[in-house]
Amino acid sequence: MTETLTLPAEPHAVRSERIPVAVLGATGSVGQRFVQLLENHPWFRLHEAIASERSAGKSYGDAADWRLETLLPDAAAALEVKPLGAELESRLLFSGLDASVAGEAEDHYADRGCVVVSNAKNHRMDADVPLLLPEINADHIAAIEQQRKRRRGYIVTNSNCSTMGLALAVVPIERLVGIEQMFVTTMQAVSGAGYNGVASYAILDNVIPYISGEEEKLETEPQKILGRWDGQRFIPAPIRISAQTNRVPTIDGHLMTISMKLRRQASREEIIEALREFRGEPQELNLPSAPAQPIHYIDAPDRPQPRLDRDRENGMSVSIGRLRPCTILDYRMVALVHNTIRGAAGAAVLNAELMHSEGMLD
Ligand code: NAP
Repeated sequence: MTETLTLPAEPHAVRSERIPVAVLGATGSVGQRFVQLLENHPWFRLHEAIASERSAGKSYGDAADWRLETLLPDAAAALEVKPLGAELESRLLFSGLDASVAGEAEDHYADRGCVVVSNAKNHRMDADVPLLLPEINADHIAAIEQQRKRRRGYIVTNSNCSTMGLALAVVPIERLVGIEQMFVTTMQAVSGAGYNGVASYAILDNVIPYISGEEEKLETEPQKILGRWDGQRFIPAPIRISAQTNRVPTIDGHLMTISMKLRRQASREEIIEALREFRGEPQELNLPSAPAQPIHYIDAPDRPQPRLDRDRENGMSVSIGRLRPCTILDYRMVALVHNTIRGAAGAAVLNAELMHSEGMLD
């Protein structure tokens, strides 16, 4: 049985003066999620859609081959798509750009005073750019002060989609007893490859045991997320990770198995309690996109499953199950993250909400 979606405890009032925002890469897999999530956002309003020269000049309705389960909002459909590099009226930009153009374009807009909240890999590991996951490292926004010494605006990033699930799933355990090493194996949905990314003939009746660049991201990004900002630089968390990534024929939702070697021992009950009790800054601030509970531990022996569990808390929480002893390391478990919501567009919207509540969009 599918778990029911939960709504935020207190709905946020829609502000009359919502902040106009632009989406860079608005026609893509992540870009379409941005458009969907912004439709009824209480603080932000979609004002501009940006994509490649292929799409520029067309209406968004014509340029985007809309693939989501909700209808394309009328106001978004009517927007004229602008080309990348165009002068923009919005100061807050969400980026779902292809990595081949994201690096330079995000620099361009941040240098001109914009706040760029990005999904792309290009600036994630920069020395003064936060790799934000607000439940874990909201204090990393302090690095922006350093970044603003070299430009008028700034960039904040969110992690790779699988890293998002992994980091959220293990942070309560890292804080409880410390993690020394992890093995992670992913089963990643086709929407993670972007729109049109994997031909149906290649993925149906198949599993592809290779995703370009993905294992490197899973082996390096969690350390920055779980590490600390010492006022001058990021100090990575000392965790060794070995990752194997696979593309499987699900539409949305990256499933992963994780085995962990702990620094100190803890009982299964203690770990499950830590997972269920985990809360962070977005919950304290009651941000509009924050899940009430970032991690749901499911007792059923055959969960989580992508189709049944990816939409929990509107796709913003991670589902975990099957925590049990590992015969080689200490514990193993299964985790699931919605890759285009919590792993991409939803994460960026949450980051922007954090910036807004900290007065950093003023
Ligand atoms: P996608 O579906 O391929 O969309 C790419 C977007 O970039 C489209 O809007 C495209 O516009 C635009 N674009 C491509 N080349 C361009 C150019 N030369 N100039 C201007 N715009 C250009 O990719 P995606 O899956 O949404 O991923 C977007 C970014 O988010 C990537 O950096 C990806 O690594 C990252 N990300 C993706 C996921 C996920 O689950 N999909 C998760 C986390 C992070 P046109 O339609 O006009 O070509």
